[in-house]
Amino acid sequence: MHKWLIDQERMRPSIAEPAIIPLYISKIAEEKMRNHALSKAHEKLEVMGLMLGQVFNHDGVEYTIVRDVATTDLDASSTRVRFRRDGFEKLFASMDDVGFDHLVTGWYHSHPGHGIFMSPTDVDTQKGMFNSSFHRAVVIDPISKEIGAYRLGSGDVEPVPFVIYWEEYQNPYFGTTVRKRKLAD
Ligand SMILES: [Zn+2]
Repeated sequence: MHKWLIDQERMRPSIAEPAIIPLYISKIAEEKMRNHALSKAHEKLEVMGLMLGQVFNHDGVEYTIVRDVATTDLDASSTRVRFRRDGFEKLFASMDDVGFDHLVTGWYHSHPGHGIFMSPTDVDTQKGMFNSSFHRAVVIDPISKEIGAYRLGSGDVEPVPFVIYWEEYQNPYFGTTVRKRKLAD
């Protein structure tokens, strides 16, 4: 069990309810987000980035896979963060570098010492920029060591359970493989 997961996220996929997990995060992406948050934790600065991955449909239920992340230079304080205006070229370059076809499947940011929630500003960001049904938000507190995930529900953000998976190297059928492997746990 991942020790950083907060209680409401502490769910495992079950064979009885295989379609209820709306978010799968690769171990690589999760480590990058966590290490990014940790790298600025001593300064109490927020970090942020984009989550890159794919969207799948299983028996009519959509789920999102995050395989990698991209970020760039940031303007940050302890309570807010945004991409620097002159950082977008670097952001797009890092998105091009991931090496697989991807969508922007959402964003992550940190709350150093503030806990896991979506602030009114975070909700506005979700509604303005990440308002597709597959978009997810990940919030990380590198001080309390917690991670939470959210999506836009009917009008407001709602927490979603997620799992972290180990991606097989260069497996073109990773989506199917991930499902089978997780369900067989
Ligand atoms: Zn926030």
